[in-house]
Amino acid sequence: MSPSRPRIGITISTGGAQSPKAERYAAAVRAAGGEPVWLPPGAAVSARVLDDIDALLLSGGKDIDPELFGERVVPDAHVEIDAPRDAAELSLARAALQSDCPILGICRGIQTLNVAAGGTLHQDLGLAHHDARTHDQHGSGKAEWEPVHPITIAEGSRLATLLHGMRAEVNSFHHQAVKAVASGFVVTATAPDGVIEALEDPHRPFVIAVQWHPERMVDRHADQRQLFAALIDAARQRRALAQKS
Ligand code: MN
Repeated sequence: MSPSRPRIGITISTGGAQSPKAERYAAAVRAAGGEPVWLPPGAAVSARVLDDIDALLLSGGKDIDPELFGERVVPDAHVEIDAPRDAAELSLARAALQSDCPILGICRGIQTLNVAAGGTLHQDLGLAHHDARTHDQHGSGKAEWEPVHPITIAEGSRLATLLHGMRAEVNSFHHQAVKAVASGFVVTATAPDGVIEALEDPHRPFVIAVQWHPERMVDRHADQRQLFAALIDAARQRRALAQKS
């Protein structure tokens, strides 16, 4: 690995970096020219972690504790919590926003980012009267890279540029989604049932979060590689700025 590769911190559960799901994130980052740096809760809480990375990838995983956005767990919501990840990643996401560190959020990552910035989540899409089956392709017989629903992308958004248009087809592995959007963020993609599928912060150098799993699609859907390419570009720019100052 060349030392000039930007270092991309990837959040992960304790011990989770060895899993095939985790390897998908690392492979997508490497293929786009970045060097993956795993950030399990113990590493993510370090005050200096943002000095050691050039960009942050908030990855998928379990649910965020509803108490962290001011709600109690709704009965039958099937909420599964990873408290060490919640604590470490919410503070890391806030620090990254504050220091304009480039951020790509994926699945749980869009939820982490929204809650970190003051937003809320649907604890369970079915209970919120959305099309829960469409949004979770586990058990559908579809491969992880196969799209299961379309999204409509906001005109003029960074996502529209990256995915080359205002419509795309995406995979889906979530039972939660963004409810109240944190102030400063804009919704840049939605599913046909209204579920929020992407957020951006147009006032920061690079903050994009998506509800689907692009790292599981990149081998067969070239457009999805643009999300990782753009993150690595933003990481290089941040590194160049840091070296000048
Ligand atoms: Mn979905």
